[in-house]
Amino acid sequence: MQKLIYLDYAATTPVDPKVLKEMQNYFTINGIFGNSSSYLHTFSLKARNIIENARINIANIIGSKKEEIIFTSSATESINLAIKGIAFNYLNHKKKNIITSFMEHKAVLETCNFVKKLGIKIIYIKNSNKGVINLNILEKKITYQTILVSIMHINNEIGTINDIIKIGEICKKNNVILHVDATQSMGKYSFNLKNMNIDLLSFSAHKFYGPKGIGVLYIKNNKKKINLFPLLHGGGQENGLRSGTLATHQIVGMSKALSITNNLINKEKERITFLKKKLWSGIKNIPGIYLNGSLKHSSPYIINIGFKNIFNKILILEMKNIAISTSSACNSNKYHLSYVLKSLGLNNNLIQSSIRISFGRFTTEKEINYTIKKFHFIIKKIKKKYL
Ligand SMILES: *Cc1c(COP(=O)(O)O)cnc(C)c1O
Repeated sequence: MQKLIYLDYAATTPVDPKVLKEMQNYFTINGIFGNSSSYLHTFSLKARNIIENARINIANIIGSKKEEIIFTSSATESINLAIKGIAFNYLNHKKKNIITSFMEHKAVLETCNFVKKLGIKIIYIKNSNKGVINLNILEKKITYQTILVSIMHINNEIGTINDIIKIGEICKKNNVILHVDATQSMGKYSFNLKNMNIDLLSFSAHKFYGPKGIGVLYIKNNKKKINLFPLLHGGGQENGLRSGTLATHQIVGMSKALSITNNLINKEKERITFLKKKLWSGIKNIPGIYLNGSLKHSSPYIINIGFKNIFNKILILEMKNIAISTSSACNSNKYHLSYVLKSLGLNNNLIQSSIRISFGRFTTEKEINYTIKKFHFIIKKIKKKYL
């Protein structure tokens, strides 16, 4: 069998072997398995120590205080806690609104759809055809009724980057809370949240070589007190915001993965930028190819392209040993067609012909060379077979 090539790092990443090794210390009777919120015995204290050290490490890396870090099960949960957590405080104020964009992850859009049913108005900001939020439009839409702005940093389908520094300034000036979905940027961009006007920030470990099932919600703790309504009630862990026994192994794994990834940010950015350029220049002359979003204003880790009149699912199946995807992991008919690509103004034909390729730590130049050759070969083959 041919070697498998993974080019779907935006969907998830493999766990770093060093992370896995570290995680194995927190399961068995010989390890640190205790419940961090049990009583005063050593098993509990040890677990608590490990967890608090991980919290401090993560806080140091993102430039926050340790009290500002809440552990959740996923970015999806963090996003739910951020948006519902704010919205639930305003259920009797029917005029309140939340501003978001058409390009957000489903976790944001579906949570907004849910709170909309509870009476919160949702206002969507249009993005440009390059996939970036227009800051003037954002500022115009903010009113005294706005309780929250939720905008992603890097889009998971096309890799375009929003200017969250400026968005933060706008939100601060207008005294509204800003939530940022940073799931595609954590471990790829350096954050110093101390100096950023971001109130809430969501991310999860499995996008940066940590385990699945663990995420963070950062909650800024300054003069502007952010009051979140908890989604899970129980033992009162995480300042009462997220009850449930903390998953020591997951938390340590996330912390370790973030340390490793963070140390590689610059080196990897350079390497991946080179690979993305190499891939694009190797395939950009294939007849019918087009690029979605922007090459210039996008993350090096994601490229979204299409081949006119070639259905993406056929292309993906034909690429066999190369794992690429339609725009995003899709699990319902509602999202059959990428709404992100739609927001760029693409027609259905172009949307159905688009694919996402995403790179990561284990992507090699050899794999990219192979992928370029394969694209040339497969596009010719499909055209002969179907067109
Ligand atoms: C993957 C992803 C999510 C969801 O993260 P989970 O941890 O899988 O819930 C949310 N937003 C963006 C931008 C993502 O890429």
